[in-house]
Amino acid sequence: MLAATAAVAPALVREAQGESTSKLKVVITGGHPGDPEYGCGGTILRLTELGHEAVLLYLNQGEPVESAARIIGYRMEEAKKASAILKARPAYVGQIDGNAVVDQLHYVQFREIVEKENPNVVFTHWPIDNHADHRAISMLVYDAWLHMRKQFSLFYYEVSNGEDTQQFTPSDYVDISAIEPKKRLACYAHASQAPDKCYALQDAVARWRGIESGHTRAEAFIRHFQSPRFGLPV
Ligand SMILES: [Zn+2]
Repeated sequence: MLAATAAVAPALVREAQGESTSKLKVVITGGHPGDPEYGCGGTILRLTELGHEAVLLYLNQGEPVESAARIIGYRMEEAKKASAILKARPAYVGQIDGNAVVDQLHYVQFREIVEKENPNVVFTHWPIDNHADHRAISMLVYDAWLHMRKQFSLFYYEVSNGEDTQQFTPSDYVDISAIEPKKRLACYAHASQAPDKCYALQDAVARWRGIESGHTRAEAFIRHFQSPRFGLPV
């Protein structure tokens, strides 16, 4: 746990860029299995290859409650495969696909999950998004961040721009050119979710963010200005 944000910020920057062996905890939240992988799979891999610990925390299992258990099981197997490729651990909040609840009870339940993980850095959906599950987890993360006294670095990511994420203007970029094939594998591990269509859109965004930042491909983020500085791999 970070005690004082200003004091620890330089160390975090050095550690994230591989200048230290100390391990950081990174939690990447998403409305559904696949969202963290599509939005920031390259960045997750770059962080885990530096030795940092990553948890993919999904709001739900990707299927509505009336789905057969075998379908839910299939989605969870896909998430397990994707997480393994990114050297991350999958975890679930336990809400229902398409029926996200944001109220006081769920704020408290979610905060307890985040406090238990005790992250240095959290990624979540940008809140202006057409999918209610994405907006929900963004609000849950923000509330946890406030109640935990803004102790972890908070980054927002983009996914399925135009269809989901809207009006996203990045503050940070991560070069994913070299590890894009592994990111692609992680996204395609979600074989039931039309990866040909979804990945084509996300890859177009990665190429555009690459043009903006001077790379072949990049992932882009918005860091909350009041959260501790964290040096993403450049
Ligand atoms: Zn989603």
